[in-house]
Amino acid sequence: MKSIERDVVIIGAGTAGLNAARDLKAAGLTVAVLEARDRVGGRTWTSTIDGAMLEIGGQWISPDQTALKGLLGELGLETFSRYREGQSVYVAPDGTRSLYTGEMFPVSERTEAEMRRLIGILDELAAEIGAAEPWAHPRARELDTVSLHHWMRQLSDDEEACANIGHFLAGGMLTKPAHSFSALQAVLMAASAGSFSNLVDEDLLLDQRVVGGMQLVSETIAAALGDDVVLESPVRTLRWDENGVTAVSDRATVNARYAIMAVPPNLYSRVSFDPPLPRRQHQMHQHQSLGLVIKVHAVYEAPFWREEGLSGTCFSPDLVVQEIYDNTNHEDPRGTLVAFVPDEKADAMFALDAGERRRVILSAMAESLGPKTLEPVVYYESDWASEEWTRGAFASSYDLGGLHRYGADQLTPVGPIYWASSDLAAEGYQHVDGAVRMGRATAARILDRDAASTEAAA
Ligand SMILES: Cc1cc2nc3c(=O)[nH]c(=O)nc-3n(C[C@H](O)[C@H](O)[C@H](O)COP(=O)(O)OP(=O)(O)OC[C@H]3O[C@@H](n4cnc5c(N)ncnc54)[C@H](O)[C@@H]3O)c2cc1C
Repeated sequence: MKSIERDVVIIGAGTAGLNAARDLKAAGLTVAVLEARDRVGGRTWTSTIDGAMLEIGGQWISPDQTALKGLLGELGLETFSRYREGQSVYVAPDGTRSLYTGEMFPVSERTEAEMRRLIGILDELAAEIGAAEPWAHPRARELDTVSLHHWMRQLSDDEEACANIGHFLAGGMLTKPAHSFSALQAVLMAASAGSFSNLVDEDLLLDQRVVGGMQLVSETIAAALGDDVVLESPVRTLRWDENGVTAVSDRATVNARYAIMAVPPNLYSRVSFDPPLPRRQHQMHQHQSLGLVIKVHAVYEAPFWREEGLSGTCFSPDLVVQEIYDNTNHEDPRGTLVAFVPDEKADAMFALDAGERRRVILSAMAESLGPKTLEPVVYYESDWASEEWTRGAFASSYDLGGLHRYGADQLTPVGPIYWASSDLAAEGYQHVDGAVRMGRATAARILDRDAASTEAAA
C-alpha cells in the first residue's frame, strides 16, 4: 500500500478528473488521481471486439462543444465527420416507413406545424432560462414539478408531435422515460446545447468523432501525468476536515489539502465519508440517478445502406430501436451501424436471453434498413448498467422536482471536497465537453482558493 502526500487528490480518471489534474499540475500543484477501473476514460472507452474497433461509450462531438474541440487541438488529436449523405428513414407509429432529407420528419402537415411550435416553445425557454442556473428562474418550480410527458400534452393534443419531441429529449438524451423527469430538466438539456433546435439539427447533431476513439483524450492526458494516476484503486473512504483529506483506496492512501470527487453523483455513496457528508448532500444525492440505454454496434462487410442512397440515419420512436446512425470508423472499408434502445425498452430487452435480444434488436433495425441488417459480422451491446463504476448510460439527472430543489447546491464544496462531473455541467451537460469544462472549472476554483489562503497566511 502506497502512502502519498499531494496538494489535490482526484477520485476518478474520467474526462473530468483528468482535465482537473492536468490544469492543477500545470499551475504547479501536485496531484494524485485514484481510479477504480484498470483503465482511464470512464464513460469513454474504445475496445476491439471480434476484430472490430468499437467506441463503447461517449464518442460524438458537435461544433458548439468548444471546450472539447479546443482540448483536442491542444492534445493533437484529429477528428472525422459522421457519414450522412443520402436519405434518412422514419418509421411512423403506424409502422409506415418513409424516406426524408433535412431535420424534419416526414409527418402530416398538422403534426409538422405542431412539432415546429413545440420546438419554438422549447427554444424560447432554453434561451430565457439558460443552462447555468435553471433553478433560479421564476418559472423553475412550475416547470420542475411537471413531467416532460405531461407538460407537452398540456401544450398540444397532437400525440405524434409530442412523442417525437419527447423522443429526442427522453430516449435520445436523458435516457429516462419522459414521465420520470421534469420539463425544466428538458429545458436544461436543450439550453446546454445552445437550443433545442441544435439537438435536432442534422449538421450539428453527432457531427464528428476522434480518429482512434474518444478515450484517447483521457489516455493522452494520463500518459503525461504518469505515476500520478493509480489504476485499480477504488476509493473506499474519504476522511476530511477543514484542513484537508485522506483518501483511502485499494492501492494507495493519499493525504491532500483538497479532494475532487470526479465520479457521477449516483456513485458518491460508494465512498464512506468520515465524518459523514452534511444533511443537504445526503438528501440531494439520492435524487440523482443514471439513465439507461443499450448502445448496439453492428458491423458489416460493407456499408450496404450507402449503396441504396441511405445515410444510415433512422428514427423510429415506437420501435424497440429508436435511433440508428452510420458509425463506420475512419477509413474503414467495413460498415458499422450504431443503434440505441432506451429506458423501458432496454428493460424489456434485458428480460430476454442474449440470443433472443439480439434477434429482436436486429429485426427492429431491419424495419428501417432492410434484411441485410439481420446479418452483421460483429454484433455487440454496450451494457453500462452492469458496470459497477458507472451503473447506467448516458449520464445522471435529477428525478422529478429535484433540479429546482437542489441544483443551486450541487457544486458547493463540502470543506475541502469539490464535485466535478459532466452530469453537473451547464454547457455540455451530460457530454464529454461538459466533463472537460467541469474538470477545468473545478481546478480553477481550487487554485483561486489556494491563492487566497496563501495570501491570507502571508
Ligand atoms: C453509451 C454512452 C454513449 C455516450 N455518448 C456520448 C457522445 O456521443 N458524446 C458525448 O459528448 N457524450 C456521450 N456520453 C456521455 C459522456 O461519455 C460522459 O458525459 C462523460 O464521459 C463523463 O465524464 P466524467 O469524467 O464526468 O465521468 P466518468 O467518465 O463516469 O468518470 C468517472 C470515473 O470515476 C471512476 N470511479 C467511480 N467511482 C470511483 C471510486 N470510488 N474510486 C475511484 N474511481 C472511481 C470511474 O471508474 C470513472 O473512470 C455517452 C455515455 C455513454 C455511457
